[in-house]
Amino acid sequence: MKLQAQIDALERLSTLDSELKELQDQLGSEREALTKKRQALGELDGKLGRDRQSIEEMERMRNELLLELRQMSNQIEKSREKLPRCRTEREANAAQREMEELRKLYRDREIEIERLNGLAEQARQGMEGTTTERDKIAAELGETEGATTTRLGELEGGASGKLTQRKDLVAQVQPALYRRYELVRKRRGTAVACTTDGTCSECHMRLPPMLYQQIRRNEEFGQCPSCNRILYFKLEAQPADAPQSEEGPSTGA
Ligand SMILES: [Zn+2]
Repeated sequence: MKLQAQIDALERLSTLDSELKELQDQLGSEREALTKKRQALGELDGKLGRDRQSIEEMERMRNELLLELRQMSNQIEKSREKLPRCRTEREANAAQREMEELRKLYRDREIEIERLNGLAEQARQGMEGTTTERDKIAAELGETEGATTTRLGELEGGASGKLTQRKDLVAQVQPALYRRYELVRKRRGTAVACTTDGTCSECHMRLPPMLYQQIRRNEEFGQCPSCNRILYFKLEAQPADAPQSEEGPSTGA
């Protein structure tokens, strides 16, 4: 029977598509996890580079200040030597002021050096923490990257095998029916539903009796008015030990 062949093909296609979806979801999440780790590593490396640069900059500034300190200390020494040679009180006051001024500038630089030392120390400690974190991720990546790549390869192989199977199956489905299948699948995730007792197997809506009777004849596919899936009739599988039921479909509501 032609419709039965189409039903079989659709059922197999539907099963294959859900297996494919599962594979692709797995692939997606494994790739994402790997990408995230690589990104995190890259970000930490970038941060370490910036921290290193800023420490170098602070050291450069501190060395400049140390040089200035030495020069100032010479100047102060000179001013001190000048002091006894002053002939007027005015001259002595001026020399005194100059020395005080220099001492103040000297102290300012000392404070600045202190501040830079503190900041550089903080940055170094921060870098230690970042390095620990970075090395941990690098080790994790090193340990798992090989296995993950293998796993990704397996998943990709599985997916491509299924895609080939899918092509063969699609060729067995009437083109108009396949277009309908794809349309519903893209919207709903799955596109096929069956009915054994007058309700849709996927959305569980009770079908209008006319539609159910029409589908029962299995002459053409129906469409669930609620979820739009392609509907066909399937005989209820009777459990081996269950008594043969003479009752019609149970009417829930
Ligand atoms: Zn439905």
